[in-house]
Amino acid sequence: MDDGGSSILSFDLWADAQKLFSGGVNSPVRAAVKPYPFFVKSGKGPYLITEDSKTLIDYVLGYGPLILGHAHPKVIEAVREQLDKGWLYGTPSRAEVELAKLITLHVPSAEKVRFVNSGTEATMTAIRLSRGFTNRTKILKFDGNYHGAHDYVLIDAGSAATEFGVPISQGVPREVASTVAVCPYNDLECTERVLKDEDVAGVIVEPVMGNMGVIPPDIEFLKGLRELTRAYGTILIFDEVITGFRLGLGGAQSYFSVTPDLTTLGKIIGGGFPIGAVCGKRDVIDSLTPMGKVFNAGTFNANPISMTAGIATIRELEKSDTYKVTERATRILADEIDNSIKMEHVVNKVVNFFQFFLGVKEVKNANDARKADRGLYSRVHENLLKLGVFIPPSQFEALFTSLAHDDKVIEESVSKFKKVLEELT
Ligand code: PMP
Repeated sequence: MDDGGSSILSFDLWADAQKLFSGGVNSPVRAAVKPYPFFVKSGKGPYLITEDSKTLIDYVLGYGPLILGHAHPKVIEAVREQLDKGWLYGTPSRAEVELAKLITLHVPSAEKVRFVNSGTEATMTAIRLSRGFTNRTKILKFDGNYHGAHDYVLIDAGSAATEFGVPISQGVPREVASTVAVCPYNDLECTERVLKDEDVAGVIVEPVMGNMGVIPPDIEFLKGLRELTRAYGTILIFDEVITGFRLGLGGAQSYFSVTPDLTTLGKIIGGGFPIGAVCGKRDVIDSLTPMGKVFNAGTFNANPISMTAGIATIRELEKSDTYKVTERATRILADEIDNSIKMEHVVNKVVNFFQFFLGVKEVKNANDARKADRGLYSRVHENLLKLGVFIPPSQFEALFTSLAHDDKVIEESVSKFKKVLEELT
């Protein structure tokens, strides 16, 4: 797939990027690729083609959205058609109604929807909604769960695993952190203690943790969250920015049969274009402006390109074998990785995304994940990259598979993983 290439390579772009951007990048994890990040020229199916004309098998997939693979023809066709009609109207358009119909059809908790532009905006809006709707202040989140880059979620348990959150970014006021309690993932006792002691507006949770590597929930944990939040009059928010339309059309809530009050979506529902959504019970969503008094607005909310790409993607998910193909790809690859690692390790997988942890016996919460050998993980990442396989540069991200990860791609990947893992572990 060499197109002859240009004389400006990743190395040169990186030199310019470091002068232009903090750390040379526009989102921090991208800087973790050593010795310097490769720049991508194009993507096709399961592959990324770099500015250095190297072809890489991609298990990052834009950090989750590209469940159909890169540049899927159906998405290209739909977006091209939309482009001819203009791409921003500042008015409602047909596409937003169509995408919302698909979401409310498939996602059990979704009666009504508000489209925003990112997962970050979705969780920010969901948290404000839970506070506005209940007229309470406190939020409960779980250690290691990532919900985007706004103040109310850049808070974790800190080293003392306290129930009162500490900011994990400079610039987040302690006053903000004091309104957010943090419990360990999969810990119902802590959850109940907080709900009993505090007037909690909302509990926000990743129904599968996808931002500490992959950590599946205990099913009893999700069920317990549902029962406890109901008992205490607290809004239960499932952050399905990763799991929505990935574990299946109904996301984690269908997969685990637990229906939250609010759901945040992003990634897949925009087919790889910027998007976020909050959906849930009619009366809760109706608390948003203009009907209600909880403010949300956005120039790009429900923009026609993201709507169109999302519709094309979900329609393809409805009729293709995507879930079969992605689950098979993940199963084969995760099992082979499991067999190839010689040292103590854990492979956590849920349907069609997974991560491996080296030097640990069990990974059930963020503290377990933090004990894994991250240095060794980085070396696995680096060596795979040399062989043409791109996995996340951070231990705390997930490997995703797509419809384009067919048996041939998986077979080639398996032999490369085996080589690297047998050498390093
Ligand atoms: N929630 C979860 C569970 C996520 O994984 C992410 C991003 N990886 C976000 C929210 C934030 O989404 P975005 O990057 O689109 O703001």
